[in-house]
Amino acid sequence: MIRILQSAAAVILLISVWLLAPGTGVPILAYHQVSSAAEIYSIDPADFEQQMQYLASHGYTAVSLSELFAAREGTGRLPEKPVIITFDDGYADNYLTALPIMEKYRMKSTVFIITGQVGQPAYLTWEQIRDMQARTTEIASHTHSHVALNQIDQAVVAEELRRSKQLLEEHLPQPVEFLAYPFGQYNRQTMAAVQQAGYRGACTGLPGLGTTAGDAYQLKRVNVPRPKYGLWEFRLRLLRAQLYAKLSRQ
Ligand SMILES: [Zn+2]
Repeated sequence: MIRILQSAAAVILLISVWLLAPGTGVPILAYHQVSSAAEIYSIDPADFEQQMQYLASHGYTAVSLSELFAAREGTGRLPEKPVIITFDDGYADNYLTALPIMEKYRMKSTVFIITGQVGQPAYLTWEQIRDMQARTTEIASHTHSHVALNQIDQAVVAEELRRSKQLLEEHLPQPVEFLAYPFGQYNRQTMAAVQQAGYRGACTGLPGLGTTAGDAYQLKRVNVPRPKYGLWEFRLRLLRAQLYAKLSRQ
């Protein structure tokens, strides 16, 4: 009986060590809005601040997708505990609410802009986007009109990708190299089209960690909706992403 218990304890210890050892990838957090509106993809500013503070006090350094790709290509190195903070859709609160909080904790982010929505109510203006980029925010594309790219004609896909990149680059001094798939929807053809349109990589909605190897056009992310269970939920989401990454051997 004691032997069985000892073996069980040994197995539990091994599993714990495996679970707690750092994963090989980079958590790419996926946010949308930062506001008090009670919607699933709108996170309260107080919760957002708590999460940024958690990351900062646990030694995380926010990096951009460009920095992840520089590490992938061997032209740069990542810090010890990197994290990538992304926002989808390009809401004005990313600038008005999230940016000051991130700057307080020395964090930076990547914002995926729907170019067809720029300047619309609740969305970022070109002036705000320019200022965000000047304040170390990486600006990327979320297509021109936010359509599911795996459900439309390939010619329309190409146009959505081209137009969005072109508009962003016309309005901004820095090149636009990354994309997030609207609704996280994509297929093999979509990935090829994104590459052909001149993007270096793309983010999906699939859970897991971004990696310094693997497919550049299907980066996994850690979705961060409005939390029901405070900071614990955030910590669990980070842990779950590590678990997925280990199980899929990224
Ligand atoms: Zn979106």
